[in-house]
Amino acid sequence: MFSKRSSPVAPAPAPSPGAVRVCILGGGFGGLYCALSLHQRLKKSAQVHITLVEPRDRFNFTPLLYELLTRELAPWEIAPAYQDLLKHTAVDLRQDWAEHIDLAQQTVTLRHGEPLTYDYLVVALGSQMRPPATPGSQTHALPFNTLADAEQLERRLADLDHLPKVQVVVAGAGPSGVELACKLSDRLGSRGQITVVDRRGEILRSYPQPIQRAAARALAQRGVEVYLDAAIEAVDASGLTFGYEGQTRRCQANLTLWTVGTVPRSWLGSAELKPTPFGQCPVRPTLQLADHHNVFVLGDMAAMPAPGRGSQSDPFRNRAPTTAQAAYQAGPAVASNVLALIANRPLKPFVYNHLGDMLTLGQGEAVVCGFGLCITGRLGGFSRRWAYWLRLPTHAHRWRVMRHWLGFK
Ligand SMILES: Cc1cc2nc3c(=O)[nH]c(=O)nc-3n(C[C@H](O)[C@H](O)[C@H](O)COP(=O)(O)OP(=O)(O)OC[C@H]3O[C@@H](n4cnc5c(N)ncnc54)[C@H](O)[C@@H]3O)c2cc1C
Repeated sequence: MFSKRSSPVAPAPAPSPGAVRVCILGGGFGGLYCALSLHQRLKKSAQVHITLVEPRDRFNFTPLLYELLTRELAPWEIAPAYQDLLKHTAVDLRQDWAEHIDLAQQTVTLRHGEPLTYDYLVVALGSQMRPPATPGSQTHALPFNTLADAEQLERRLADLDHLPKVQVVVAGAGPSGVELACKLSDRLGSRGQITVVDRRGEILRSYPQPIQRAAARALAQRGVEVYLDAAIEAVDASGLTFGYEGQTRRCQANLTLWTVGTVPRSWLGSAELKPTPFGQCPVRPTLQLADHHNVFVLGDMAAMPAPGRGSQSDPFRNRAPTTAQAAYQAGPAVASNVLALIANRPLKPFVYNHLGDMLTLGQGEAVVCGFGLCITGRLGGFSRRWAYWLRLPTHAHRWRVMRHWLGFK
């Protein structure tokens, strides 16, 4: 499925004697952008050795994952290989799973490689699927969180190519459910019959009203059926059953997609770190652990403070959201604080800056709201694509993608 291959790189050199060892766990929006920012600030200084531990071989730019379904983008554009992204940096990439953090010994145990010893640790392991509570959901429904999930869905769609009608049911009317429903509807055209089912009473519960309205319009225009206040009871090979208006209903489906939420990955190791009620790791405003100043936690798995954010009833009040936008901002902030700590300079609190919300609502279309403005349709699609292009990792990758969009080989 990949049209461009990653090029092999020489293994990174071992840390020079006396170098400060910074170890980053997780190469997603928080960890990768922290590593790139550290590299940019340090260049190839031998004084600091940066190690990035990440089990996947490709970074996943998740907000653009939906574009694979409509073939608006190619996998290499939104999932560049780490080896390519890091080849001109001094970041030492370990393709491995971190399994245990020993805060007292300052070591990280890896699944395959030798344990790592760190002076400074950055932890950004993101989220994972909510443990399945609905019978059959794990066996019969597909998740949509990673490039591997998108590829699996692509294979299932190919298997259904011969059918004159394809019935798809999407569990969850959050951003993933709505974006998937719109994209799949455009992909399948008149062959597709898409249904969205959610136990809550509204779509996109945590989004501003103009976004909710634009999404409801996009779903209606595509003939997507939406059942709200509907409790999914079971999933099987041919669809799902749900409770709706006091009755049990059946929704036949050739394909069921599961987008009912994620939970933060838990801390690897010692039980001394008590998570918040939402399972996140409590951190100081500088994103350090309270009792271990050389350890930073960021992204989805950290309760990153954002004073004044959210309404009284918002359970995530005063916290940054669990989004790429927040993790992307926190990465460079942590890099700056790690260097401040090394240089004995004062650290700065992380300041989350909400730049707005964007959702793709079908092929070439999106809603983009921010700074009191809301753009929809093709112009929204163009603005969203542009905003994400600016945030793709590394200049080299951005230019490669831009050249491709402009039709250069
Ligand atoms: C389909 C989809 C669409 C999304 N769309 C948007 C959007 O439009 N806008 C937005 O702001 N947010 C969006 N998000 C949310 C966004 O992806 C996350 O909030 C963001 O990725 C969080 O960044 P992170 O660094 O905390 O975690 P991640 O980016 O998930 O990175 C965590 C990394 O840690 C690695 N890892 C996990 N366990 C280990 C381990 N034991 N050892 C080493 N590495 C490990 C993982 O492989 C992963 O690469 C979307 C998410 C999904 C799934």
